[in-house]
Formats: sequence, structure tokens, C-alpha cells
Amino acid sequence: MHDAPLSYSQVKRKVTEITGITPIYTDMCIDTCVAFTGPFAELERCPLCSKARFEENSRKPCQQFATFPIGPMLQASRRHLRSSKQMSYRQNETEKLLENFWGNILPTTLSEYLHGSEYIEAVVRGDIRSEDFVLLYTIDGAQLYRSKLSDCWIYVWVLLDLAPEVRYRKDKVLVGGVIPGPEAPKNLDSFTYPGFHHLAALMHGGLSPMGLQW
Ligand SMILES: [Zn+2]
Repeated sequence: MHDAPLSYSQVKRKVTEITGITPIYTDMCIDTCVAFTGPFAELERCPLCSKARFEENSRKPCQQFATFPIGPMLQASRRHLRSSKQMSYRQNETEKLLENFWGNILPTTLSEYLHGSEYIEAVVRGDIRSEDFVLLYTIDGAQLYRSKLSDCWIYVWVLLDLAPEVRYRKDKVLVGGVIPGPEAPKNLDSFTYPGFHHLAALMHGGLSPMGLQW
């Protein structure tokens, strides 16, 4: 006997159960001008185009976007021995670089961020510690279907603790948020606010402090 296929909401629940990651949904302007966060959190109309936030005579938002909180994803990256080993690349390389730094030996190859003076100085200052996660944030537009105009914007976190040949792999890049288009976000900060807010809470809560400052 075959099991009945799961409904969309059941699939979402299963993914949450397995990964421990629950997306945060935030209201946004239907034309992707702003997200209703920070100074816009209480507004009922888009401050740029005046379109309504909610459907008529209801509190149902016209449009929302998803943020995937980084905390549980980072925890998962250190949960398994193999990924945990891969995560020690930065730490191992930094130890070697530090030995050279104190011996006044400059790196002979400058192939990545680890070799930059900004990074090693941040380590020496104690801003980046060996147990920290170092993350790169990047955002770009994506067209999901070739034949259909359904552009959306996706931002990702790249774990710079991983070796360069691993860190950009599809299974290692962490999706931070998905913003429906087709327009590009006009006030990008308002859309990344929930993701960065979550990251800042991790830093200040001391649960999983980050070395990078922005
Ligand atoms: Zn708008």
C-alpha cells in the first residue's frame, strides 16, 4: 500500500521537524518596495507607492517573504562529525597564519580572505575568535523558471569557516531569505532586517558569537 502524498503544509511541517528551521514570514509591499519591518513595521500602506499592506477589510497581508533564521542552520553545520571537521578549515589555516604573523613572515600567496591584513588584524585584536563563525552575506536576483517571468530575490550566507572548494557548494550555502519579485526590492535593508536582527540576537545573546562586524 502506498502512502498518500503529503500536502504542501505537511511537507513544510516535515522540513521544519527534520531541520529544526522554521521560516519567519514578514509582510511586504506587493510591489516589493519595502518590507514592513523596523521603522515601517506599523504602517498599513507602503511608504513609497501607497499600496495597501492588507487585503480589503482584513488583516491578511497581500504579500509576504520568507527569512530562514541562521542560528539553527549554524548549529546543524557543527552537529555532524564530517561537516564539523570541514568547519575547522579557517581555524587550522589561521593558526598557521598566526605563527607566520608573529614571525613576521608574510603569506606568499594571496588567494583568499584569510590572507588579507583586515582578517588577520581582526584575529589579533580578538574580534574574530577560533570558535566564531565567519559568514559572507550576498544577494542576487534569480529566475526560477526559464519560460516564466517569476523572478525573485534570494540572499545567502556563505560559511567562510569551510575550505574554498567546499564553501560555495549547493549543499553548503545557506539560504537566508527569499523575496518574491518580479520587481527588485527598493529598500533592501528593510527586507534583510529580520535576518540580520536574528544574527545580532545570536551575537548579543552570547549563544553563538560572530566575529564579523558590519
Ligand atoms: Zn510599494
